[in-house]
Amino acid sequence: MALSGLEIYKLLPKTNCKECGFPTCLAFAMKLAAKQVELDACPYVSAEAKEALSAAAAPPIRLIKLGSGRREFQIGNETVLFRHEKTFFNKPGLALRIKDTEPAEEITAKVETVHTYGVERVGIEMTFNAIAIENASGDADTFARTVAAARAKTDLPFVLMSNRAEALKAALAQEGGHKPLLYAATVENWEAMAEVAKAGGVSLAVRSRDGLDELADLTTKLSNAGIADLVLDPGSRDLAGSLAQLTQIRRLALKKNYRPLGYPIITFPGEVASSEEEEVVAAAQYVAKYAGIIVLDHFDPAVAYPLLTLRLNIYTDPQKPISVDPGIYEFNHPGADSPLLTTTNFSLTYFSVAGELDGSGIPSWLLVCDAEGMSVLTAWAAGKFDAETIAKAVKTTGVAEKLNHRKLTIPGHVAVLSGELEDELPGWEIQVGPREAVDIPAYLKVWKQ
Ligand code: SF4
Repeated sequence: MALSGLEIYKLLPKTNCKECGFPTCLAFAMKLAAKQVELDACPYVSAEAKEALSAAAAPPIRLIKLGSGRREFQIGNETVLFRHEKTFFNKPGLALRIKDTEPAEEITAKVETVHTYGVERVGIEMTFNAIAIENASGDADTFARTVAAARAKTDLPFVLMSNRAEALKAALAQEGGHKPLLYAATVENWEAMAEVAKAGGVSLAVRSRDGLDELADLTTKLSNAGIADLVLDPGSRDLAGSLAQLTQIRRLALKKNYRPLGYPIITFPGEVASSEEEEVVAAAQYVAKYAGIIVLDHFDPAVAYPLLTLRLNIYTDPQKPISVDPGIYEFNHPGADSPLLTTTNFSLTYFSVAGELDGSGIPSWLLVCDAEGMSVLTAWAAGKFDAETIAKAVKTTGVAEKLNHRKLTIPGHVAVLSGELEDELPGWEIQVGPREAVDIPAYLKVWKQ
């Protein structure tokens, strides 16, 4: 049962030392009760109080880890209904489903495709996270052979899908110890599934065919049987019904601290769709609300890239733009005669400019100013990319020592800063560059010292 703010307050040191970032222990207690801070933020909580507060401090949605090594990914541990309240933390894993009835060469090709697929955006490598293997044949040996063949081609974690515990047990033996998810325990088989999951030390998905009451009843039984790492499949297979169920689960977990539904959710957009296009729409819905794993039935790079980008955007902290470190960046081995440009440290801005500088083949320097991760125009409007900021970056980075000229190119969007910047940087000539990054190569071709 969750503790109220006042109950938590009684267990805190009550010194109001402010080290947690809040003015009083009571303010911290209220935030802890609302699950908006971590208990660790107070360094003075006693061991006894920590134990008593564990229920209040435990995440309302359990954190589940799947996979191992570089392929490990985690789901759950979310604390808000809407990302603007704080942020969403753990991106839903994207998986491709294959069936053990497919021809061996097709399975191999699919596994290799997903294994090697990756795209980079704003310096972040985006990939699929798992492969789901379904025991469509119903035969345990065929299933185990398929799992073994897939494992020979990838270290991606698997979702092993069968309604027969003995088939999952046989597949688990071939899986290679990469912490798969077993799918799924149901009313009919949950005891046998619990035994397999327990023996293998792996996570178990739970599927309901009769709504959330049945789901909660099953997770309670499994939890009492010692299975802590559960993933929910509430069962709905239409867009509206599925959205309603996933939202209700998130609400019950966060707002009512309802432990039986405090687990991440697995979804199957292909099962709510009548076409590949509809599958993508459903997958996008699940990215936004509130899937932990999304198992697709089709893989197409033209679909994977926008889905991964959507996922990246939804799971970016809205209060902290993705940024790069301020400083001096080199492109194409610049020398003392090379041009010097400047921009802000917003990742999208940096990578747009960096891509053009690199692609131009022309040696150049880029001075990236600390604009709190904002883009050029936003930062300028907020007073974070002004003449003073740029001049400070020039002086503190020592970029002048790398040059035998004193020319600095600013983005065309902030041409208005040139006069003020020349006042801040005596002896420097401020040049106005293009407004758009795409025009930088042409600008560099005619740039003269
Ligand atoms: S750090 Fe702990 S003791 Fe200090 S104000 Fe915060 S809750 Fe109170």
